[in-house]
Amino acid sequence: MFDNIVGNEQLKATLVRLRTSGRLPNAMLFAGPEGVGKRLFAIEIARSLVCRVSENGLPCGECPACVRAGEFEFPRADARDDFKKVIFSNHPDVATVAAYNRSIFVDAIRDLEREAHFRPYEAAARVFIVDDADKMNDAASNALLKTLEEPAATTHIFLITSRPDSLLPTIRSRCQVLRFAPVSVEETERYLIETRGLPKPESELAARLANGSIGHAVALDLPEFRGRRDRLLAALTSAIDTGDRVLLLRTTEELNDAKNKDSFEDNLGILESLIHDVWSIGIGQASSDVVNTDIPEKLTSLAKNANSKNLPEWLTAIQTLRENLLVNINRKMATDALFMKMAA
Ligand SMILES: [Zn+2]
Repeated sequence: MFDNIVGNEQLKATLVRLRTSGRLPNAMLFAGPEGVGKRLFAIEIARSLVCRVSENGLPCGECPACVRAGEFEFPRADARDDFKKVIFSNHPDVATVAAYNRSIFVDAIRDLEREAHFRPYEAAARVFIVDDADKMNDAASNALLKTLEEPAATTHIFLITSRPDSLLPTIRSRCQVLRFAPVSVEETERYLIETRGLPKPESELAARLANGSIGHAVALDLPEFRGRRDRLLAALTSAIDTGDRVLLLRTTEELNDAKNKDSFEDNLGILESLIHDVWSIGIGQASSDVVNTDIPEKLTSLAKNANSKNLPEWLTAIQTLRENLLVNINRKMATDALFMKMAA
């Protein structure tokens, strides 16, 4: 079980123990960062409950029941009404509830409530996965609470969330909570090499950029990332080496251009990681310990020329800018101010 999922080894052991000893709770809450595999864990347990071959409580992963339990066809994004029901997998005892835009419809939870009372059709148990459970409003939460209070013995409900604190405390207290950790850089790197066939240097970089999320590592578009990073690196180079104000101003124009609006904070993060890398090489860290592992010579040469007092100040300025973004400042003016500080 969980053979194809990376990371969170201890949770795997806990779940295997609960499952094989027949003590799997009827309601569980999987809490932890985005992209670490919480949903995959839930589907794997669903398989263990519907598998037709296995006798030890662990899924075979290959029988038709195991395969169908992992096959979901989600409604089109604009098919609003289809999100008012539970969405069944190709197995009639495994279903999920998904959010439409930013909320889970109370009707979907009422449908779950109804389905949760039925006896299983083919398997020994029924499994319902509530994805993004923090997107339930109060009405939906209260509807779910009823189901959690008196679950059918053959029904298992898994709530999945990256924001457990946004759930009603009464919901949390009815579930056994498992806390997922970010996946380590080493685990992510190994996965990218062994399972995704990425070359080592690409895997190294992607694993460091992914911040503990396998999902993010897989979705990363490295050529696109490098294109953006090149521009920020050019800006940082003029701040450190040449003092080319024109290029710096052009970069702030570009960062604030309407077409880059959605990636503004990402870009800020890239600039931050470059400055941090230069700084850490400057204070004697190995160039293999940085985020941008693929450009060691460039970072080392910037570290030689940089004024060691400036770099921490720039990092603080970025942090301040990011906090100010939350309170609705003029983003363009704030970015200009940051870059002018770097050009000084
Ligand atoms: Zn099976």
